[in-house]
Amino acid sequence: ATPTAIMVATGVGAKNGVLIKGGDALERAQKIKYVIFDKTGTLTQGKATVTTAKVFSGMDRGDFLTLVASAESSSEHPLGKAILEYARHFHFFEDLSDTKNGHNNNKSFEWLLELTDFCALPGHGVQCFIDGKKILVGNRKLMAENGITVEEHVEKFVVDVEENAETGILVAYDDDLIGVMGIADPLKREAAVVIEGLKKMGIIPVMVTGDNWRTAQAVAKEVGITDVKAEVTPAGKADVVRSLQKGGSLVAMVGDGINDSPALAAADVGMAIGAGTDIAIEAADYVLMRSSLEDVITAIDLSRKTLQRIR
Ligand code: ADP
Ligand code: MG
Repeated sequence: ATPTAIMVATGVGAKNGVLIKGGDALERAQKIKYVIFDKTGTLTQGKATVTTAKVFSGMDRGDFLTLVASAESSSEHPLGKAILEYARHFHFFEDLSDTKNGHNNNKSFEWLLELTDFCALPGHGVQCFIDGKKILVGNRKLMAENGITVEEHVEKFVVDVEENAETGILVAYDDDLIGVMGIADPLKREAAVVIEGLKKMGIIPVMVTGDNWRTAQAVAKEVGITDVKAEVTPAGKADVVRSLQKGGSLVAMVGDGINDSPALAAADVGMAIGAGTDIAIEAADYVLMRSSLEDVITAIDLSRKTLQRIR
């Protein structure tokens, strides 16, 4: 395309909330064969909500929630934020029913415990120390890698959560599995329509996620994607991009998280969700400022039209 055509397209994009970082990406977007979508925060709203919190140890429910929320208090992950909100609500109502506590501030997080050595483990969860004891909050992989035993009745509980298209988060404290949380994250309202639209444009949608297989399959089915890769590490997401590129096809990646940035960089066209993390935005060629998946189509369509016009 001519520099003028690129400038015009960039302007039209910006007006529609699609920031295009370069003419090369704009040209490549017209030939995209596959669009890979991250699940959490990209296809889903990223507004996760805790639906269940089951304590498997003898621990008091409030103490359990305080521990888990404290461990997640430094996390930027949607799942971490959901857990923090759930615990805050619990403590708010607990304070309300405590008549001795006259003035109550529902925004209060003063019940959070101090922690040390916080570590976010992409694709796994979080780890830190509270009261000198290690706490782990995350998936089965995190538990397995730390040698935590997950008993059969606990595993069954997690499977039930996952079959319901929710994510099961396990919690271990001082090497014991103490509870499980079920977290729901609804699809973006436009997700299914956009997937259908892409298929009509001759593009193959793919879903890639660090989440477990059962949840991934349930979500993919809901949104109309048949090509699913689950339990994928951040580096693995970039491998998925490269494997689809092998036949010479152009691949776009749409993502929002730190864990998506290697894949965004590896893709022929990386598209970051505007509401996503800075690292994802930096790694991408396009930024979808409205965070709407419709703009994946806007972006491809804009590229196709721009390049047709100059022919
Ligand atoms: P996605 O690829 O769908 O965006 P992620 O790679 O961010 O998902 O996360 C994959 C899995 O890692 C989550 O489903 C969850 O099991 C676990 N996980 C990641 N971050 C956290 C966290 N802060 N707290 C608990 N679990 C987490
Ligand atoms: Mg994500």
